[in-house]
Amino acid sequence: ILARGRDVCKRNGLLILSVLSVTVGCLLGFFLRTQRLSPQEISYFQFPGELLMRMLKMLILPLVVSSLMSGLASLDAKTSSRLGILTVAYYLWTTFMAVIVGIIMVSIIHPGGAAQKETTEQSGKPIMSSADALLDLIRNMFPANLVEATFKQYRTKTTAVVKSPKVASEEASSRRILIYGVQEENGSLVQNFALDLTPPPEVIYKSEPGTSDGMNVLGIVMFSATMGIMLGRMGDSGAPLVSFCQCLNESVMKIVAVAVWYFPFGIVFLIAGKILEMDDPTAVGKKLGFYAVTVVCGLVVHGLFILPLLYFFITKKNPIVFIRGILQALLIALATSSSSATLPITFKCLLENNHIDRRIARFVLPVGATINMDGTALYEAVAAIFIAQVNNYELDFGQIITISITATAASIGAAGIPQAGLVTMVIVLTSVGLPTDDITLIIAVDWALDRFRTMINVLGDALAAGIMAHICRKDFAQDTGNQKLPPCET
Ligand code: ASP
Repeated sequence: ILARGRDVCKRNGLLILSVLSVTVGCLLGFFLRTQRLSPQEISYFQFPGELLMRMLKMLILPLVVSSLMSGLASLDAKTSSRLGILTVAYYLWTTFMAVIVGIIMVSIIHPGGAAQKETTEQSGKPIMSSADALLDLIRNMFPANLVEATFKQYRTKTTAVVKSPKVASEEASSRRILIYGVQEENGSLVQNFALDLTPPPEVIYKSEPGTSDGMNVLGIVMFSATMGIMLGRMGDSGAPLVSFCQCLNESVMKIVAVAVWYFPFGIVFLIAGKILEMDDPTAVGKKLGFYAVTVVCGLVVHGLFILPLLYFFITKKNPIVFIRGILQALLIALATSSSSATLPITFKCLLENNHIDRRIARFVLPVGATINMDGTALYEAVAAIFIAQVNNYELDFGQIITISITATAASIGAAGIPQAGLVTMVIVLTSVGLPTDDITLIIAVDWALDRFRTMINVLGDALAAGIMAHICRKDFAQDTGNQKLPPCET
């Protein structure tokens, strides 16, 4: 028994360390909260966690570019287009299913209180329109400057311009228009009154295309995928660049193999540091608590039942074995709240533990980390309906359909970085006329929910790679490309 135990520890050493570090991080964080550290002490304490995030972020760019270019270049045109179409269709389908789960959960639990018959027409003016947000999504697909895309993405900036009321002259605009009168009842004076007819100032929201910090992963994925397909078509003349990308990809994975030993240490400080920073958890209101429970229940149903069942029905393999292979990636997702930053570890787990074909992982994972966010889509739908419930707006069936479509689109547009979903939620809220300012209602619990939805995002990408490896196994058995095929066993 002792020998077996030692063997298990040896094989799963890193995973055991990661689980321990999540636990130690939580305990340490809650203990240190009682010590009332100063903001400066907290920032020093967070330093090892910050290093972990920086290491992961450093690896994203070379990993995405090299894996997509070398992965797609090694496939023939028929295989790459089949894999591309199947993957994107699967991603859209599962994201839409996640939204439906979210809508069902929020309708059953009703975290925002009882709805009354009111329409959404009375809501405030949107800060940014859905059209702007959608245009940003498309703009991000085509970065004008690739270098800039590595540190900036397009994000429409909206500024409020306050215009004085339309009056005949400048002088009149500064004057108040008042009508004085007397109100009488049965011949006796009840009160003097003054009616203020000054038109209220008009607030105009002006939207202009701008940029915001953060890597434009979508643009980089689009460019690298296109380059990969073209390199594949170029044959021998493209070979030097393809082998450069393969070499780059392998060397990045070697860095990952070394860096992972730092991760358990970094996770402790990343989690404890976040707990030190958060607002008083007891201050979260009852409705907000129910909202958080709704999102978590939805994520559990989607991540532990729907996706694994789908995997089981398609591949006829045991999803538990598969999920066990990617546990370390899920823990990193929990610690970092970023599916892009988790990408190197997801790769490592899929290749080493689940033996997924390298060429499939090289395409499915980076695309998934960019466009496939089941957890985010589910959360966006729940949050939008929760905001409607809190405001006592009754959404009709058409508006629910609109929410499901826009939540899917918003999750595609969200970058794989912490709390990106909170930003793209504007698309969902404005599509049904809900007040975008109400996003502030859910901010208090968002940092925690973000961790759970990122885990589901990563789980969705990994299971998709397993499913694609199964569906396309014949294509890949014929097209051995430039590598030996590892068995696709889970
Ligand atoms: N943090 C999520 C991710 O990286 C995105 C989000 O929902 O905010 O996948």
